[in-house]
Formats: sequence, structure tokens, C-alpha cells
Amino acid sequence: MNMQLLHDILTCYGPSGSEGRVAGVIARALEGHADSVTTDVMGNLIAVKKGKAGGKRIMFSAHMDHIALAVIDADKNGFLRVCNVGGIYAGEMPYNHVAFGNGVCGVIGADEDVKGDLTVSDLYIDIGAASREEALSMVALGDMCVVMPRVTKLGEHRLSAPAMDDRIACYVLLEAMLALGETDNEIAAVFSVQEEVGLRGATTAAYTINPDMGIAIDVTGTGDVPKAKTKLAVELGKGAAVKIMDRSLICTPAVVERMEKLAREKSIPVQREVLPYGGTDAGAIQKTRGGVPSGAISIPCRYIHSGAETVDLRDVKACIDLTKAFMEHSA
Ligand SMILES: [Zn+2]
Repeated sequence: MNMQLLHDILTCYGPSGSEGRVAGVIARALEGHADSVTTDVMGNLIAVKKGKAGGKRIMFSAHMDHIALAVIDADKNGFLRVCNVGGIYAGEMPYNHVAFGNGVCGVIGADEDVKGDLTVSDLYIDIGAASREEALSMVALGDMCVVMPRVTKLGEHRLSAPAMDDRIACYVLLEAMLALGETDNEIAAVFSVQEEVGLRGATTAAYTINPDMGIAIDVTGTGDVPKAKTKLAVELGKGAAVKIMDRSLICTPAVVERMEKLAREKSIPVQREVLPYGGTDAGAIQKTRGGVPSGAISIPCRYIHSGAETVDLRDVKACIDLTKAFMEHSA
């Protein structure tokens, strides 16, 4: 695994709608490894490798955007008030450091008189300003911050970072593209935008690409922590997760079958994922035009949408192998 490339992808600033820096890192790594690399109106980065006559067109999608907080106002003492951009769990946010795109940093705080569960409107951001004027000279209304990018190694195999969802999948898709030789299939690798606010980038990319099959690569939850609230069978370190369903799609059975068959043939460790919440780009691809057979390869991830999303690098390797096998295998 290319740990420097992975680190660069994990630490880029890229809230929903401002994914350009992530796209830049990925586009540079793709140089010479695709027949075309383009950026569409929405900001999706689309790399295409041509197949042979009669081959199928398969779209893969991994989203570049990271959940964020957007500035809606500053109070007279310089504290910023914010709204969520994507699925923020307010209770998990306090005392995280955050970074804005212009380099301004802050600490998230929460109103101390709140009874019960925190909501995003109870949060504030302390950027070191002492007045409204000073705060708004440092950041503008609408500017977005993300939990401060960093990467922490846990034990021999595990890695923790705030933007694991879904940069780890961007890395999986990128590595599969870099390793891919000649295939019958035409492969369209989409590094998509604005997934966290409603699968928006994948929606327009799928319309343009008009694929014969669609595969999302994304993180999924696990049930392997003490007293886990949701009884999920997925565990860290048990391999790539083959999605069966989530709230955005019920995967096309033929796609699931093809994935599991390839995993058996290539001895790639896999586990089934049945997610009672959440969604992914495949949900948008499946509903494109007259419908597209769709599925997803998921990287098991603990503490999703917190500042410490954690994956196992052996699962990441299995996901790269399964993605590459799926690209190569004649449909
Ligand atoms: Zn995601």
C-alpha cells in the first residue's frame, strides 16, 4: 500500500461542495493510468479506461466529500454559530479541533445549559476571535470547517482519521485503477461530490455515463464494539463487505452474486453487509434512467461520522482486490 498517497488523500480539506483539493491529489496520481480524466460541472472527477468492442460499461463511485459545519453567524463575542452539512451527530462534536479551507482553526464548544441531547444549534466554534467583526474578518458566512485532518495508527493494522468516510474508498478505487491492465469492460471511475448531502454528484455522473452496471465504494458500520447499539454482523478485519442493502438501495442480486463468486475464486475475504441505516452512491446510480444493476463494496469502519473513523488495512487490501477483480471480469 502507498501510505504517503493514502495520507495525502485522508488529510485534504474537502467538505461537500468544495472537493477540489481531493480531486487534485487523485488526478495527479492517475496521470498516465487512464484514457481520460475529466471534471464535470458538479466537480465529479471521472477517469475512464476504455474496454474492448462489445464490453460492458461499469461505473464505480467513491465520494470525495467530508461532512462539515457551515458558518451561519457570529455573536458579539466572536463565537461562530453553524449548521450541519451532511450527517453530523452533535453529541460527538464538542472539543474537536476544526479547520477551515483558508487555514483558520477552531475548537467546537457546546452551550452548557442544554438539557438532554445536543443539537447542532447548541454548538459554537471558538476561532480565537473576541468580537463579531474580528470573527467575520477571519471567516465568511457560509465558510465550512471539517474536523482537523490527521491520521493516527492504531496497533499494527488499523488507521483512524476524521475523513475515512469516504476517502478510504477514494484510495481503494484509485489503487484498483492504477493496478488495472487491459479489460473487456469500459471502466468509469467516479470520484464523486456531495454524497453526504444526498448522493448529488453520483446522480448527475450516472446520467452522463449511462453505465450498464454501477458499484459504489463506501464505508459501512460494524457491530464489533462493546455493547454496540445496532446488531450488525460486520466486523473489522474480516474482509471486504458485500452490501446487500441499506436505506438507499437493495442491491441487484446478480451484482451481489458476481461479487461473492469473484471473491471465492480469488480467495478474497468478504463478509455480507446488511445496513439498516445510511445510503451510498449506488442508490443514485440504480435509479438512473431506466434503472441500472447496482451494488456496493464497503470498507468496515468503526465510529462513522465522528472525528475518529477507524478501519483495518487488511480490509482495505481486500476491497482493492475485489474492486480490481470486478473491473477485470467480463460482464
Ligand atoms: Zn460515505
